[in-house]
Amino acid sequence: LSERIQKALKNLTGKGKVSEEDINKASREIRLALLEADVNFKVVKDFIKTIKKEALGKEVQESLNPGQQVIKIVNEQLTKMMGEEAVPLNKSKHIPTIIMMVGLQGTGKTTTVGKLAYHLQKTEKARPLLIAGDIYRPAAVDQLKQIGEQLKVPVYSEDGEKDVAKIVQDGLAEAEKNKNDYVLIDTAGRLEIDEPLMEELERVKKVANPDNILLVVDAMTGQAATDVAKGFDERLDVTGVILTKLDGDTRGGAALSIRAVTGKPILFTGQGEKLSDLDVFHPDRMASRILGMGDMLSLIEKAQQDYDAKEAQKVAEKMRENTFDFNDFVDQLEQVQKMGPLDQIMKMIPGLANNPQLKNLSVDQKQIDHTEAIVYSMTEEERENPDILNPSRRRRIAAGSGRPVVEVNRMIKQFKQMREMMSKVTKGNMKGLSNLPGM
Ligand code: GDP
Ligand code: MG
Repeated sequence: LSERIQKALKNLTGKGKVSEEDINKASREIRLALLEADVNFKVVKDFIKTIKKEALGKEVQESLNPGQQVIKIVNEQLTKMMGEEAVPLNKSKHIPTIIMMVGLQGTGKTTTVGKLAYHLQKTEKARPLLIAGDIYRPAAVDQLKQIGEQLKVPVYSEDGEKDVAKIVQDGLAEAEKNKNDYVLIDTAGRLEIDEPLMEELERVKKVANPDNILLVVDAMTGQAATDVAKGFDERLDVTGVILTKLDGDTRGGAALSIRAVTGKPILFTGQGEKLSDLDVFHPDRMASRILGMGDMLSLIEKAQQDYDAKEAQKVAEKMRENTFDFNDFVDQLEQVQKMGPLDQIMKMIPGLANNPQLKNLSVDQKQIDHTEAIVYSMTEEERENPDILNPSRRRRIAAGSGRPVVEVNRMIKQFKQMREMMSKVTKGNMKGLSNLPGM
């Protein structure tokens, strides 16, 4: 998807004025791209109409060129289409908050019950109880029990009971007794929507009266996912959607149309098979990911505003002279941080934005904060002469920054490696690089 849109928009970038013809041409490309991404055709039609209206109606803002203007509008509309803001879970006034998971077979319901339990443990120190409501495959109960063991979370199941609604009722009584704050109900799925399944889910809904009915949808199924979502929603009135397997989805079509077709928000996305692979869904981030090019142009602008060219010159000078010290080091960190959260910046860089490895790479803001704390605990003399940092000074710095001594040592070592590398690079001695760890 993104490749095609990038191409369409490239034709617009750099021209003085957006003509109607330009926009028509770009719209054609964007429409094809969205259809190719398996977005519902009605959704595409509406989307294009809005883009045309917005792009033609609006004056090109002074600070933007025509290409940037169109990118901005496409980005805004994509975000809007997916619901603007991240939507939280519905909370019950009194515990437990009940979450019922529904969806077709193999979409990731059972896995997502585990992921969500883990997410709640982590973010709210929650004590959830899981109910095994898929009784048709014995393996399904075992699968949930395994997840429960991993998370140290109780799993309620009943052997031999054929009435799922009864199991759920008993499970809720158990949760009441144990004062669990969340109950997550796993349910059975089918290969496609059928009447017996819907009737069973309706019965479970009736006894559980869940605060959240979350439809789990496999993002890789594209357009079909939208139809399924509609089917489930009509019968069960789901409260939200979890889009799984986005790690495998290069097209993003499902994310685009589900909200538009059902009116129901996407709350979370599954990004892999591990229990930690669940992300809160942010429409704006998804939009820039779909756009792919990220927002290279605004990154350039940001960089120009925030980064004083003379500063850069000075740093380069220092690197050459090998007098780069901890003051410069912290300056550099601050320069980078002014531009925004690092992982966001990386997504703005072409080539990186589309790199599948980036998804697994998160920049640790905490790590940067720790590094700063360590440097700020050094005396001026120490910052200027990192070589005087003997063990007793290091212990003092560790105490002052609240970081362990090993971390202080590691940071100083990294700093020295970095300094050495910089001086080699700026001296044009590239051969030295290969001696460094990780090169
Ligand atoms: P259920 O039948 O709906 O309960 O589906 P399961 O939870 O058993 O998951 C089916 C398969 O999809 C399993 O192999 C999971 O590991 C896998 N799966 C679930 N969510 C994700 C995800 O977000 N990404 C990837 N790559 N695999 C997933
Ligand atoms: Mg299952």
